[in-house]
Amino acid sequence: AEQFKMQEALEILGIKPINDGSSTGSEWFSNGELIESYSPVDGQLIGKVRTTTKEDYERVMEKATTAFKTFRAMPAPQRGEIVRQFGNKLRELKEPLGKLVSYEMGKSLQEGYGEVQEMIDICDFAVGLSRQLNGQVIPSERPGHVMREQWHPIGVVGIISAFNFPVAVWSWNTALAWICGDVCVWKASEKAPLCSVACQNIIADILKANGLPEGISCIVNGDYRVGEMITSDTRIPLVSATGSTRMGRIVGAKVAERFGKSLLELGGNNAIIITPTADLKVVVPGAVFGAVGTCGQRCTSTRRLIIHESVYDKVRDAIVGAYGQIKLGNPLDEKNHVGPLIDTDAVNTYLAAIEKAKAEGGKVLVEGGVLTGEGYESGCYVKPAIIEAENHFEIVQHETFAPILYLMKYNGEVENAIDIQNGVAQGLSSSIMTNSMKEAEKFLSFAGSDCGIANVNIGTSGAEIGGAFGGEKETGGGRESGSDAWKVYMRRQTNTVNYSDQLPLAQGIKFDL
Ligand code: NAD
Repeated sequence: AEQFKMQEALEILGIKPINDGSSTGSEWFSNGELIESYSPVDGQLIGKVRTTTKEDYERVMEKATTAFKTFRAMPAPQRGEIVRQFGNKLRELKEPLGKLVSYEMGKSLQEGYGEVQEMIDICDFAVGLSRQLNGQVIPSERPGHVMREQWHPIGVVGIISAFNFPVAVWSWNTALAWICGDVCVWKASEKAPLCSVACQNIIADILKANGLPEGISCIVNGDYRVGEMITSDTRIPLVSATGSTRMGRIVGAKVAERFGKSLLELGGNNAIIITPTADLKVVVPGAVFGAVGTCGQRCTSTRRLIIHESVYDKVRDAIVGAYGQIKLGNPLDEKNHVGPLIDTDAVNTYLAAIEKAKAEGGKVLVEGGVLTGEGYESGCYVKPAIIEAENHFEIVQHETFAPILYLMKYNGEVENAIDIQNGVAQGLSSSIMTNSMKEAEKFLSFAGSDCGIANVNIGTSGAEIGGAFGGEKETGGGRESGSDAWKVYMRRQTNTVNYSDQLPLAQGIKFDL
């Protein structure tokens, strides 16, 4: 019965056995080889997507650059109206799209729906913002002059996304880019390509209904080779790339080489500091959801717990106890907390990380391992593991995109815990569990957490769209979603206007002719 419901969802979303754009009369139709998308949930083939060739890419860019000329001329609040319609359509399609996310990527159904909800939320945010792309008026030092700052659309925005948030990351970028007057070319992860086809089908219908060119939203499909078409393309002034630090290092350099801008959202190595006054009622669900939610495949997943030695045993026992309650299995079944990893390569990386941690002296508190037998045929289901470790272990210094939680102790003052928390190359999300106002404020101060996200008494994972999202150091420095993140999708222009009859120069310079 579940299979039938999934089939129904695929039909509603316009997913065909082979997706090349032609069946929907789409302008992005592609002619390359086929990518097969298998579900990590049950190992079944969901559908195939045709990849984008160099010629297909040129056609897409032609459509995108032409559409930009139309779109940038449309008043921003009218562009907001398109995003409003898109958000409403997502409300209607929340169930089928959430199901597809869960089935193709493997996250729990609740998290699949949550991801679509994030899309809806960013649309609402963007609609309001479409009337607030305000510049400033700046006092001029010259008489009879006025200075102001304007924000103009930047052009074609390239979006390269990771498999783990196969729809939300795209919408964080597009909802803002569209109200800003930009058009988007999206290369989704080759591990979740059908999610991108579904999203494209939804927005293409809306653009068509409004008499707008489909080039406002384009997809290109394939692996890093198609990504490279975007990163090396001088017609794309901004590349927003989400994925591993390894990818970001290459993409950032490639885009910088041609003086493009990049918005990098890369890996994290997120920690929770647990101080002597921490409330266990908050600590346990916060840490456990952070570590095992999405099977440890969130950029904000909790990787490290830094626990004060005076409460270490109590916290450890409570967390280990809670791991015993976690239900693993088909993520489409709402009673399960944790689904599979994305593929068997990810399973091997997980197994190797556990071995490496042991070899470096880690002590396993909750055993990992691969689940076998009925319901686990895809070979992608693993047990969340807990390992007592030290921060300097090489494996702890790296992000392993799987449910492995490292426990470590600190002693003395909170500053010692902050040093450990900051003692990794990544800088995405962090939190402190404490009832001490002084400890909390120290953690949030200039001398505290060095991450882009720093929380008090909530975990590291699960951000709201209202805030700017992103991290420092090897996480890449980019910010997207809320606050003033929209500014990266626009180009700033400073204007000086002279309404006097004289031509005074700045800094009082005399130039008499
Ligand atoms: P990945 O780096 O393997 O791939 C991400 C995307 O980059 C894919 O679309 C891939 O095809 C493309 N890509 C890879 N090499 C490229 C190249 N040389 N040129 C152009 N494109 C290239 O990452 P993944 O396994 O899909 O996702 C997991 C990673 O993403 C984790 O490290 C996670 O922390 C990170 N992530 C970060 C955020 C964030 O907001 N900071 C959000 C989600 C995921």
